[in-house]
Amino acid sequence: ERKAALAASSGPGATSDGHKVPLLANVGGPADVPAAVEAGAEGVGLFRTEFLFLDDSKKAPSEEKQVESYRKVLEAFPEGRVVVRVLDAGADKPLDFLTPADEPNPALGVRGLRSLLDHPDVLRTQLTALAKAAEGLPVYLEVMAPMVADRTDAKAFADACREAGLRAKFGAMVEIPSAALRARSILQEVEFLSLGTNDLAQYAFAADRQVGAVSRLQDPWQPALLDLIAMSAEAAKAEGKSCGVCGEAASDPLLACVLTGLGVTSLSMGAASIPYVRATLAKHTLAQCERAAAAARACDSAEEARVAAQAVLSGE
Ligand code: PEP
Ligand code: MG
Repeated sequence: ERKAALAASSGPGATSDGHKVPLLANVGGPADVPAAVEAGAEGVGLFRTEFLFLDDSKKAPSEEKQVESYRKVLEAFPEGRVVVRVLDAGADKPLDFLTPADEPNPALGVRGLRSLLDHPDVLRTQLTALAKAAEGLPVYLEVMAPMVADRTDAKAFADACREAGLRAKFGAMVEIPSAALRARSILQEVEFLSLGTNDLAQYAFAADRQVGAVSRLQDPWQPALLDLIAMSAEAAKAEGKSCGVCGEAASDPLLACVLTGLGVTSLSMGAASIPYVRATLAKHTLAQCERAAAAARACDSAEEARVAAQAVLSGE
């Protein structure tokens, strides 16, 4: 029965009453594209470009090498959306030429956008490579920055994109609670938000995502995390802009319904999860998703939130 349900699951992501929620794939490079296409992804919601940089920790890949890799991903989704994240180095992904080696607390140090703003040449080369890769393609390119903390960060990134002559939408990832709290001010500088729920949970709960002992606090059903997501989605709606999710949270079919109910406008996940999320979303109306979201937020723990949302969605 499960197999049949999945086989029947194709086409764009939507609730049973037709509220569209584009289902996008997280990819690390061209090698991940076939699986994304196979799963019926409507585009890429998170292209983690750092894998291209991890081959050589001494220097950045040449502009030509970058153009080649980006173009392969962009070509796979004609007419589709591709959201590329600029290099997110540091913390769990250190790069000798870019990130300081002697930080006492690398997750709170010079990582993500911070390291790119310290190395404008690396950011410029990447943005120029993206502009060249997209040339002549019908794809709808969006470029976003990781670890945006405030409006100053968002403006610095948007300025760098404009200076590189990039014709794309510029966005900010919401991975730091300060960005969720002041999402409307960030949206004065950029055109969309994308919630990185893995890091957002890590920073909201002061719980290292690499430390198993604190995994309870990394649970994406935590009501405080749902509050931060709701806050970001509401800000985007008020500004007439979009707010997707590209963290692990989007790959849990039940939670995907809750995220939809919170006002999230697209969901990006590993390709393997797309059919399950599509099938579950298609069984529920937007109003049900909204009720499930409200029920989850009314709880005091991740476990209770999951049970409460499940009860609403199964019509109990
Ligand atoms: C996240 O933090 O949720 C995210 C999508 O980025 P990454 O997992 O690559 O840090
Ligand atoms: Mg992240």
